[in-house]
Parts: sequence; C-alpha cells; structure tokens
Amino acid sequence: MSDATPPRSTGTPGRLLLWGGRVVGADGEPEPADILIEDGHIAAMDEEIEALESASVDCRRCLIVPALVDIHVHLREPGQTHKETVETGCRAAQAGGVGALVCMPNTDPLLARPDDVEFVLERAAQLGRGVHVMVAGSVLPCRGAAELSDLAALARAGCVALSDDGFSLQDRELAREALAGCAEVGLPFFAHCEDEALSASAGVLDTATGTEERLTTSCRAEVVAVERNIELADDTGARLHILHISVAESVDLLRQAKADGIRVTAEACPHHFTLTGEALLEQGSLAKMSPPLRRPRDVRAVTQGLLDGTIDIIASDHAPHTADEKARGLEAAPAGIVGLETMAALAYTALCERHDLGLDEFLRRLAGAPAALVGATVPSLEAGAPARLAVFRPGEWTIDEDWFLGKGRNTPFIGYPVTLRPWVTVLEHALFSATSVSPH
Ligand SMILES: [Zn+2]
Repeated sequence: MSDATPPRSTGTPGRLLLWGGRVVGADGEPEPADILIEDGHIAAMDEEIEALESASVDCRRCLIVPALVDIHVHLREPGQTHKETVETGCRAAQAGGVGALVCMPNTDPLLARPDDVEFVLERAAQLGRGVHVMVAGSVLPCRGAAELSDLAALARAGCVALSDDGFSLQDRELAREALAGCAEVGLPFFAHCEDEALSASAGVLDTATGTEERLTTSCRAEVVAVERNIELADDTGARLHILHISVAESVDLLRQAKADGIRVTAEACPHHFTLTGEALLEQGSLAKMSPPLRRPRDVRAVTQGLLDGTIDIIASDHAPHTADEKARGLEAAPAGIVGLETMAALAYTALCERHDLGLDEFLRRLAGAPAALVGATVPSLEAGAPARLAVFRPGEWTIDEDWFLGKGRNTPFIGYPVTLRPWVTVLEHALFSATSVSPH
C-alpha cells in the first residue's frame, strides 16, 4: 500500500511498532523514540526498539503527541443521521488525531434529558473506536422554551458542560438563570454568543462586498452577546466558556474579563483564524458558518489571542451537512463546515508555521486546556499507559478528499495548502492510518 492509498480505520494488530518518530513531551521538545504498542497499551518507549513479531509503521519525519481533545463537535445523532452519526463522527475524529470530544446538544430532539445523554454515551461505548465521547447537555428542553431543562439531572447523567449552541439564549433573564444553574451544578456553560436580531439584520455577507455598516452589525451581534454573558458570569460565579470567538472586539472583552478575574475561557475555530469573509466569493455556501467568517482585522485579533493565550482553546465546531443541503444557495444553505479531520493541520499551519507558536503551546490549546475545562485527562506517553496518541507528519500537504472519514465533505479547505497531515491515530485497540502498516 502506498502513501496515496485512502486512509483507513481498523483495529490495531496485536503488536504495533511506531518507529523512527519524534515524541513530543510536555515541554514541547521532540525526542526521537520508537513506541511499541501491545494490547492497547504502550509496552515500551525507547530510542530503538527491536520487535520482530510486530506490525510496524514508518514514523520518520513525524511528530508523536497525545491524542487531541476537541470540545466542540456536532455528531448529529439522534435525528440527523443523514448528516453524521456517532460512529461516522468518531471515524472523523480518528482521522484528525482526536481521541476525545464533546458533542453539542442541538440534535433532534435536543440532548436535554438524561435518556438522550445516555443514548449518545452508550452508542459511543458500543463502537469500540476508542474515541472518548462526552456530552454538553442542552440548557433548554426544546427550542424556544421559556424554562430551563433539569440541569441537575443532566449533570447526574454525566454531562461535562451545558450549552445553548445552535439555539442561542436571547432572553437576558433566562440566560442569567442558565448561568446560575450551571454554577449550582458545577458545570461550565458553553455559550453560543449571538444576538439574533442583529445577525438577521446583517444577513449573509462577505468582507469583500459587504458594506462596512452591515459588517459591523454582523460583528456586533457577537460582541453584545459576549459582553452580556461575561457580565452574567461575573454576577453568578458561573464558569463561562465562549464558543467559537471570532470578532476582534470580543477578544478585547475576553482579555479584560480575564484581567478582572472573571471565570471565563474561550475557544477559536481554525476557519476563524485562517479565512476572511472573502472566501464566500469563491466557495459560496461551503464558506457559510455561524459565526460567519469575518474581516481581516478579526482574523489577526483571533490569531493574536491564541498566540498570547487570551484564547485558551482550539476547537473544530465540526458541523456536517449533506452536499444537497449545501447546494441550496447562500441564503438557504445551513451554516457550518466539517472540521475534525482538518483542525490540527490548519492550526499548526496558521500558528506554528506562520507565527512560531511552540509545540508545547500548540498542545495546550488542542489538548491540555480543553481537557482541563471538561475534567478529562490528556493521555500520557509513557510505558504502561493506554496507547492514545496521534502521529502527525509535517511537510507540504494539500487537503484533499482522502482526508475525510466522516459523512460530510462540506468544507472550503479542499485544495488548501497546509504544513501538517494527520498520519496515524492509535486509540488503544483502534487504529487509523493514512500510511501503510507493514505486517510482520
Ligand atoms: Zn455555535
């Protein structure tokens, strides 16, 4: 099998040797080491391992890191399995080097009752793909509800966060109750910050042809909601997590809130620090997402926020849709792009390649900080530990169809040049490999 063979996802052979790679430790310094995996665990990690009875993967020129943590994923199950399922979403995660993910509650029905949460957790456990699936429960029992879900019951069912993603809370009092409720049950509130009246009046527009006034209105739709949620976090003591931050003024507010000691974190998605709204001109609805792609100065501000640590986390906002849905034209097509498979490559290219962000900080944004927020642990790379790792290959790559293992291909990044490619993902007994695995 050559490097051009489409990626695949299978069980690990009994013994697997990853040889010739460089393992990135907590300090971000890559050290040459081979890794021998036996029965889903790291059996040995040493400079040169001879393991005659093992299948093996050539990891020369590759970086080996703990499997990444993506806290913003839409798995679409239940109710929208034509877009994605727990299983295909987990495949996409494997293809991107992601070993743990948080799925968002805007399914059909919403993940608003313990039964719904248990359904997703059980589906994930049955798959045996090794992806650790966590759930953000819905703060509302259904869209447009005037009262909150039973947040304590959702916490007991195992939710790691509560969220309004996909149905942003518009009413200030209800938002206050939601944040106070999250504080009470001890879970972070994952906030989709959008004033829908403002965003509706701005409409879908690109930065090349949008009038300054409409672009500003579109950005204000996020900024006023960020401002409100920070105030409510301050009032209630809730842990606020701002999903997909995208506007320069939002980053300023976040920086100030942190300086003021308010409990707030934020994530940015690769598209928001890689593309501007000009991408809509070329890509049409493939570049339509929520929040929308922004102005060049927003891209610079989000990048700067990630570089200086104001923005804690990188997440994909993996949002699969079918080709038919995306073909409905710019106004009617649903917002969102797939992102699990491309997150690491785009983040590395934009931050490490172009701005010299260290690998330690890269891993903090993509594993350490998101894991800490939801009470998960970052896998350790040492003998005896469960084998949960990603192998990435730096180099000159172009994102193509072969990268994608989920159901969605709705991305503006096909044909986009990057300097990293997900190469191999091992999640205990599950293996994804974009390269050949030599049998022993
Ligand atoms: Zn959202």
